[in-house]
Amino acid sequence: MIRTCLPLVCLLLLGRFAPATAQRAAQNPAPAQSGVAAVDADYTAQIREYTTDPQFSTDLADHLPASASVPTPQKFLGYIAGAPNKLTYTKDLYRYYDALAASSPRVKVWRVGKSEEGRDFMMIAVSDDTNLARIDQLKEATAKLADPRTVTDAEAQRLIDTGKPFYWLSGSIHSPETGSPEMLMELAYRLAVEDTPLIRKIRQNLVVLITPVLEVDGHDRAVDLYNYHVANPGKAVPNLVYWGRYVAHDNNRDGIAQALQLSKIQMKNFLEWHPQVLHDLHESVPFLYTSTGTGPYNAWLDPLVVSEWQKLAYYEIEQMTARGVPGVWTHGYYDGWAPNYMFYVANGHNSIGRFYETFGNGGADTRNRTVTSAATTREWFRPNPPEPKVRWSIRNNVNMQESALLLALEYTSDHPRDFLSNFYLKSKRAVAKAATEGPAAWVIPNDGKRPALAAQLAALLQEEGCEVQRLDREIEVKPAAPPTPANGEAASVKLPAGSYIVRMDQPYSRMADMLLDTQYYNVNDPRPYDDTGWTLGPLRNVQTIRVTDPAILKAAMTLLKEPARAHGTLDGTAAKFYLINANAEPSLATLPFQLRGASLFAAEQPFDNEGRHYNAGSYIIPAAGNAASLSQNLTRAAGALALRISGAASDPAVARHPITAPRIALIHTWVNTQNEGWYRLALDEMKVPYSYISDQSLRDTPNLREKYDVILYPPVGANLAALINGVPKRIQPDGSEFGGPLPWMKTVLTPNLASSDGQPDQSPDIRGGMGFEGLAHLKKFIEEGGVFLCFGSNAVLPVDLGITSNVSIVDTRTLQARGSVYLSNVEDRTSPIAYGYDEQLGVYFNQTPVFRLSLANGNGGGGGGLQPPAAGPRGTGRGTLSDPDIVQGRLYQANAPDAPPVNPRERELYIDPEVREGNPAAIPPRSMWPRVIVRFAEERKLLLSGELAGGQELANTPAVIDVPVGKGHVVLYAINPMWRQETHGSFMLVMNAVLNWDHLQAGR
Ligand SMILES: [Zn+2]
Repeated sequence: MIRTCLPLVCLLLLGRFAPATAQRAAQNPAPAQSGVAAVDADYTAQIREYTTDPQFSTDLADHLPASASVPTPQKFLGYIAGAPNKLTYTKDLYRYYDALAASSPRVKVWRVGKSEEGRDFMMIAVSDDTNLARIDQLKEATAKLADPRTVTDAEAQRLIDTGKPFYWLSGSIHSPETGSPEMLMELAYRLAVEDTPLIRKIRQNLVVLITPVLEVDGHDRAVDLYNYHVANPGKAVPNLVYWGRYVAHDNNRDGIAQALQLSKIQMKNFLEWHPQVLHDLHESVPFLYTSTGTGPYNAWLDPLVVSEWQKLAYYEIEQMTARGVPGVWTHGYYDGWAPNYMFYVANGHNSIGRFYETFGNGGADTRNRTVTSAATTREWFRPNPPEPKVRWSIRNNVNMQESALLLALEYTSDHPRDFLSNFYLKSKRAVAKAATEGPAAWVIPNDGKRPALAAQLAALLQEEGCEVQRLDREIEVKPAAPPTPANGEAASVKLPAGSYIVRMDQPYSRMADMLLDTQYYNVNDPRPYDDTGWTLGPLRNVQTIRVTDPAILKAAMTLLKEPARAHGTLDGTAAKFYLINANAEPSLATLPFQLRGASLFAAEQPFDNEGRHYNAGSYIIPAAGNAASLSQNLTRAAGALALRISGAASDPAVARHPITAPRIALIHTWVNTQNEGWYRLALDEMKVPYSYISDQSLRDTPNLREKYDVILYPPVGANLAALINGVPKRIQPDGSEFGGPLPWMKTVLTPNLASSDGQPDQSPDIRGGMGFEGLAHLKKFIEEGGVFLCFGSNAVLPVDLGITSNVSIVDTRTLQARGSVYLSNVEDRTSPIAYGYDEQLGVYFNQTPVFRLSLANGNGGGGGGLQPPAAGPRGTGRGTLSDPDIVQGRLYQANAPDAPPVNPRERELYIDPEVREGNPAAIPPRSMWPRVIVRFAEERKLLLSGELAGGQELANTPAVIDVPVGKGHVVLYAINPMWRQETHGSFMLVMNAVLNWDHLQAGR
């Protein structure tokens, strides 16, 4: 199709829009396409004034048509889209769209949901009035094409012939990227009123859907900060520390877990409209990057998706380049592998998702910009690169986005049937998947081990639009399961009745398959842009089985009409004891807070009671010593938390300790709140209360122990200096401060930075982190019995500054382990931190930190003769990776005293015999030893999903360590147990430490 149409388009282009003509037109405030409708002269003059160079505009966006009845953005707001120093709040964007809809039959608006902070999400449709008059019929057509099980090919063809593709534009998911909300207002106006052949064709052949701004909470904060900047010329402005309520840039990494409102709403919008294209508008690199990516591409997508990406991208590049616009390019920038981006509501559902990165100024200033050389080199994919130095305005950004979008809309409106028939074909091929490429189905067996987590995973697939069934009767299947910690390599398995079945003969089979399947990312491929593995079975600690045998599709099963949910039970309401098995489900963390004040114990050993087996950590709740309402409260909790509670007549004879709801603080910095936002979301989901405090509170609170029992310090992703200093407060040589306070406060000028109760947080001056005072307070807190949970690279704080002993962080040389799922062994299952876990667990790890222990040396590293033999790669020699070298010509003894210990754990606890003999006092008593709770698996088993090279540097190293410090503990996590709401299987590695904070020495 593309080949037959292009020559015609090019001819038109040469005749009408030759670059020289376009540039002349841009300098002349006459309409670019003379002879058509009148332009709004004032608006057009301002467009041209604010465009820094005519080459950064086109004939498509260098003017605005006039309308007697429909208000322009300028008429409504007092300024044009892309005016210098002007950004528009969400509520004003919405007011404008309301006005458009009120004045034009070509525009409709809907409020479609609410953000975490209560702002509306809006959806807009722009098209011909005849299309909008039959919008429900058009929606029904795409809904039917989306599910080929509901139509015959002949009927589908009729729908393709009479339907219209939906092309969905989505503005500013990323809050500092401020151009698209302004641009979309103007584009909507232009689409509604302009009367050129191009715009008429777009209106006739398409319905353009618009999400004016997606991160509505963050956008208003960005506008606040920009207004603060305008009102305070010359003053420093804080970074946009908070975007949405929980996360910043990662709001575009929620495509897998659908945890944020903006993700949920986009999924809902998609399933309502079934658009053929979703176009997400971003700003970063110059001047306009249109997405295709370098590859490796996501391996679960229909190849037709990839073709459509390329078609649209190259049409835009060709047309923009022909108009003389420099720096429009594709291919580079990102890979196209992970499905965690928002636009997977389209890519993962037989539609296509694409994005722009245009050049933004992070506000609405006009500035001189030096473009990084990496983005200005001439490459095969960038034959016309951006210029290295440029004067740039927000209007340039608006021009670039709007021009290219009109070209994308032009292309789609030239091929409406192609987009609809491809959509239908992709949907058909997704339904055929069970019989063609397979598998036939994915199964989450009803094994009773972690029913709430299993149901939650099934419910997530439902939220992703997938159908989930429940097996009516037990069957036996031959799986073709990749080995995972849960399913091993079973040859044939029984699936109990009640197992969740995700059939692959359904329209959204590909999304389910890509979330449950195993990823392999070759390290020789381009450096990954983001996570390389995300397999949800191991991350959720739930068994999943890939079944290729199509016989499973014939088994009796029932479609779940409601979200999957595990059901709690309480047997025996008048019992003397209530027992709850520890199974590492997060709901176990909720219970002690819901029963606050009740007498509740954790068993320190596994036990059997009245015919049932209980793991270590199981809850024992005696009736005696608790209020009469206990059984009522437990009944309620069983229902709400899907807990299985057993009444018992006899007291199990097992050692136990009380579980009391501790006082928790969660620390954030003012440097970056991104990663800790996922921790807040996890705690909020578990309904675990906590104080949310900045690192400045550590500085300002000498007696932390008085206020808190447990402090969580989620990964900041900053170096040691930034962890201590935060946003630096700098002192000049004369002793005076450089610069003034940096406030992050709700004020009249910045009303959206915090809620009226100060949420998420505020500070009159965000400079200065915990400082050395905070560090001293923290050390005192731990030594006095507090528990400090320290995640990821934050470990440099306690480890490198010597709050902990016997632990070091190793620099790796060859390890490539970016954002993947690895196998770990839960090594010390007597530790409370391991309560409820099996022997193995899939964990998320991203490159650092790699820990090392040494008992013989205070800080775990360095130290001459006190070091244990190196754990690095073996030398070149005979045998395999794990075989010993054998020196020739002398007697070989397998366990010779000078041979490195074979067992890595032995090696780690190695204490140089010479030290033990010569200086026994150098060896601390066992009660002080760091306790490895979870350890990465041996190298050949390590990679579950994602990428791995240099795995010997990570293999067998500690993943979770409990380090006693004085009366308290530091618990160090190399893994990220609360990552993007994907890792529910690891949540209890955090919450067990929290709940058992005052008994972490149990089981030693
Ligand atoms: Zn972005």
